[in-house]
Amino acid sequence: MDLRLEGKSALVTGGTRGIGRAIVLALADAGATVVTCYRTEGEAAESLARELKERSGEHAVVRADVGTAEGVETVLAECRDRFETLDVLVNNAGVISQVPFAQLPFEEWERIVTTNLTGPFMVISKSLPLLREGSSVITIGSRGAMAGIPLRGHYTASKAGLVGLNRTLCKELGGKGIRFNVVAPGVIDTSEPEELSEEQRAAYNERYLRMMALGRFGRPEEIAGAVLFLASDLSTYVTGETLHVDGGV
Ligand code: NDP
Repeated sequence: MDLRLEGKSALVTGGTRGIGRAIVLALADAGATVVTCYRTEGEAAESLARELKERSGEHAVVRADVGTAEGVETVLAECRDRFETLDVLVNNAGVISQVPFAQLPFEEWERIVTTNLTGPFMVISKSLPLLREGSSVITIGSRGAMAGIPLRGHYTASKAGLVGLNRTLCKELGGKGIRFNVVAPGVIDTSEPEELSEEQRAAYNERYLRMMALGRFGRPEEIAGAVLFLASDLSTYVTGETLHVDGGV
């Protein structure tokens, strides 16, 4: 039993930046062959492709929006072309925004829920023919789904939905030997609260740093470590769990 993933196949959604990028690199470094996707053409996708080229393995970085049925089909087609089975599936792609609930338009609710909750539904459902005994499905949730976060009702609702889906899938498909787990990050140092003003950001930092036992934000690699554990043979009896990786909130 170890953390190595040699000979294993993996799909990570939203792998060009932040947490997803750290997960892609951790899985590739552990020996897996990784397919990942992104939405926006640009330097992030190009630099990830370059980094993966330096590693061994036939990895792929494809443009595909997992909030649409066409995008999900695109990335799954890439997986089917390369893999007979999918050993590791990481639903990471997610979007966030801050809107007071009283002003939250339906379109914004729908935008967030479509990528964060409907996206994983579509990806898992389309992946089912490739999943087999021993496959591990890991979905990136959020600590905020349990705690609640002002101005993020749409986001926390989408992330809480993933926890319910995860528990149900672990029961419905556990008999096939497929594991389902959620990793719930606390505040991780990525580009996430980009739309905050400087003043809002300072208040945000102060509020969250005070809540964390470790007194610091997390690093994307620290989420990737938890994902690697759940993807590997070290966790073959762990399923239906939500693993909080939040510095002790
Ligand atoms: P980033 O915004 O830094 O990166 C998101 C990645 O997902 C990008 O590569 C982005 O690609 C991709 N992506 C977004 N939407 C789609 C889509 N519809 N289809 C395909 N790719 C998509 O996010 P983080 O790394 O901060 O967050 C990653 C996950 O972790 C999310 O699910 C988030 O909710 C969760 N999380 C993050 C926390 C944090 O503190 N950072 C805390 C708790 C949970 P592109 O640039 O092309 O859009």
